Amino acid sequence: MNRKSFYFIILITLLLNLLPARAQYLAPAQTKFTLQDTLRGSITPERAWWDLIFYHLDISVKPSDSTIYGTNTVTYRVIISSDIMQIDLQPPLEIIKAEQNGKSLSFKREGNVYWIRMVENQKPGEIYSLILNYGGRPKISRRPPWEGGITWKKDKNNLPFVASSCQGDGASLWWPCKDHMYDEPDSMLISVNVPSNLMDVSNGRLRSVVKHKNNTTTYNWFVANPINNYGVNINIADYAHFSEVFNGEKGKLDCDYYVLKENLEKAKIQFRQAPMMLSAFEYWFGPYPFYEDGYKLVEAPYLGMEHQSSITYGNGFRNGYMGTDLSGSGWGDKFDFIIVHESGHEWFANNITYEDIADMWIHESFINYSENLYVEYYYGKDAGSEYVLGSRMNIKNDRPVTGIYNVNFSGSGDMYYKGGSMLHTIRQIVDDDEKWRTILRGLNKDFYHQVVKGSQIEEYMSSKAGINLKPVFDQYLRDIRIPVFEYYVKGNKLTFRWNNCVQGFNMPLRIYISGIRKDIVPTTRFSTIDLETDNAVITVDPNYYVGYLNMTGK
Ligand SMILES: [Zn+2]
Repeated sequence: MNRKSFYFIILITLLLNLLPARAQYLAPAQTKFTLQDTLRGSITPERAWWDLIFYHLDISVKPSDSTIYGTNTVTYRVIISSDIMQIDLQPPLEIIKAEQNGKSLSFKREGNVYWIRMVENQKPGEIYSLILNYGGRPKISRRPPWEGGITWKKDKNNLPFVASSCQGDGASLWWPCKDHMYDEPDSMLISVNVPSNLMDVSNGRLRSVVKHKNNTTTYNWFVANPINNYGVNINIADYAHFSEVFNGEKGKLDCDYYVLKENLEKAKIQFRQAPMMLSAFEYWFGPYPFYEDGYKLVEAPYLGMEHQSSITYGNGFRNGYMGTDLSGSGWGDKFDFIIVHESGHEWFANNITYEDIADMWIHESFINYSENLYVEYYYGKDAGSEYVLGSRMNIKNDRPVTGIYNVNFSGSGDMYYKGGSMLHTIRQIVDDDEKWRTILRGLNKDFYHQVVKGSQIEEYMSSKAGINLKPVFDQYLRDIRIPVFEYYVKGNKLTFRWNNCVQGFNMPLRIYISGIRKDIVPTTRFSTIDLETDNAVITVDPNYYVGYLNMTGK
């Protein structure tokens, strides 16, 4: 596809997104998109022609003047020959110089995008490197991690405590890259130079520490696995370090913990939950996906984020979500929300990664759901159910869970609790706990280290469950209505249907007829079944996230 026809299709897509049929559910946040949104959120021709192999991000971070300067060397394989490359870097940062094989390249800025003009003939199949020299004073995050940027804080000893976070806003907030999730480098080297009284903790393993004469030190972190760009992070502080080895499904997993010195004793107690989390999630989801890179929990000056193999933590060394149980069921007080939730993302977010943020439910629905699986693992199945049911208080049904594709626009915050409730509902439909666990583990095995579309996950689950779940996904991901089970009892007959639902909704449902379990498959048309007794009392299994209405009011 050439550039012109590409942007024509994008224009049509944008216009379609504005049609009233969709807009009725999408009104509140944002319905207009700019060319910048498209450049950020789609696989443009200037991105598509080259395949990322390796990044070497090599930067100096100076807390004294809040600047970052350095280079990112981008190694890539040419797919189709082209002469314009898209590199993303957001103001106020600037690319100072771009060069390939010793030759300086010209470039033009268009908002958050740099168009780099290649000089050398880019031969398909060949590997090239490009050095991007950049720097400046990156955006400061006012609300980390919900708003991306750098956080510059101080510890109790007045030493700098610095961290990056950039999900949604993009890694190009602080380093130049191909800022789209579809393409990940196969591995990455992150070299961070900091004042010698501090240390940097990034992703992967610490390969070397190099002290310089100017009283700075460079920490070289190597990530041996593909990594998504918002997963890359820096954490700079006067850290204390302790470690342990977890005997997991794939052997010995190195677990390293970095916290401010003032919190070391508290962390040694609270972080006992890290191996507990690993045991629970390896049981449900399969082996931790990054044994080669180890697992780290790193204290950060904000609540937390799923940075790959270096989960950042700022939950105050107490249970719950900053001390509260988001489920209101009591079970949320039993574990540290950030250790469990953010680490769970190693499976759903870092192992299986959304291609488009419109499908962010792949990360958040499964990980909201994982919280109850953690509860179930330690406290039993009823406890897990109570956690899910309690969490429904947080569902808004304001707009669909799925966002808008190709413009970097995520769906409703319902991707957490409603998504978790949807998965809990699907588990009821599957009605076979071993099969369900096999599906969850299968996802992590069959999509190992992959970037996926939501539809791939949906189709996979349908095929492994042996049930067409499409109407269920349509209902809960792409519509805001909660299906209502309408019924009435007349004599010894029960009549029922689904209402307030998508066309063709036919989700199986478990009901109880005067306390006796009965599995039925309602459709949007009324059907009738015989009951053993007259005037039976009908109840709907509360594990299904549905409404119900006795039409006769009895
Ligand atoms: Zn999350």
